[in-house]
Amino acid sequence: MKIFITKTEIKSYLSSLKEQNKSIGFVPTMGALHQGHLSLIKKAQQKNDLVVVSVFVNPTQFDKKEDLINYPKTIENDTKLLKSVSCDVLFLPSVEEIYDNNVTSERFDFDGLEHQMEGEFREGHFDGVGTIVKTLFEIITPNKAYFGEKDFQQLQIIKKMVAKHRLDVKVKGCPIFREEDGLAMSSRNTRLTEAHRNAAPFIYETLKKVRKKFGTNNALELTEWVKNQFKKQPLLDIEYFMIADEKTLKPTKYQESDKKYRAFIAVFAGNIRLIDNISLHKD
Ligand code: AMP
Repeated sequence: MKIFITKTEIKSYLSSLKEQNKSIGFVPTMGALHQGHLSLIKKAQQKNDLVVVSVFVNPTQFDKKEDLINYPKTIENDTKLLKSVSCDVLFLPSVEEIYDNNVTSERFDFDGLEHQMEGEFREGHFDGVGTIVKTLFEIITPNKAYFGEKDFQQLQIIKKMVAKHRLDVKVKGCPIFREEDGLAMSSRNTRLTEAHRNAAPFIYETLKKVRKKFGTNNALELTEWVKNQFKKQPLLDIEYFMIADEKTLKPTKYQESDKKYRAFIAVFAGNIRLIDNISLHKD
């Protein structure tokens, strides 16, 4: 596996491969890699000649300083994992390499996709995400880029950014990879206390029940129902739950039959914030 830390070096390496018509699949990450990340890499490997993974903890997408400081950094283990799945290229830039001395976000208009959920509760988050993903796309110039449905709002926002800025890259969504007990894999899970870790599977169990009830109950009733369920869970504090149109991400109270919906949730387990979502349409 080749490892690059500067833009100049990775650009020059990839341009020589592009000249040979090799297709590049790209998986941006913030490191602390787990099987969820590896599932994206495996998907990228199936469809591209080579796969580039970036590990960069992007400061501009954190609204809370302590969250950025406490974000797990496990680069030795990440490198090992990437080698074990035969990743071709790791891009590991410093903050200075990406931002020079100007650690700020560009302002984006994602046609309203950015206002709810993560956008509402994490100020400036999606401007930070847009800034880093656009910058990385410019450096890597991938043919395809892979993002997890774990961050479904982020996935839709990246698709919107690519369409609006006419970027020449195909954005691919990948299913949520879960622990055996259903908890969505996340780099943050390692920071849970044992008690919170044991309580956390309740999140997905509740989402599965919502999926079952959707149709017989409307979105308004289900939102109330979920909030009541979490009142019985002293270790889990719900930040938001909503059922939204998959395309616009606008919350709904009463579902319409011709639209696809998804349920979204954010929960605090102690001071660790966990997010999850589930599709509500039955194919
Ligand atoms: P992160 O390192 O958390 O920024 O995640 C990097 C990419 O991996 C994003 O596209 C995430 O949506 C994706 N990802 C993280 N966790 C999972 C998971 N459990 N299943 C699928 N994709 C995931």
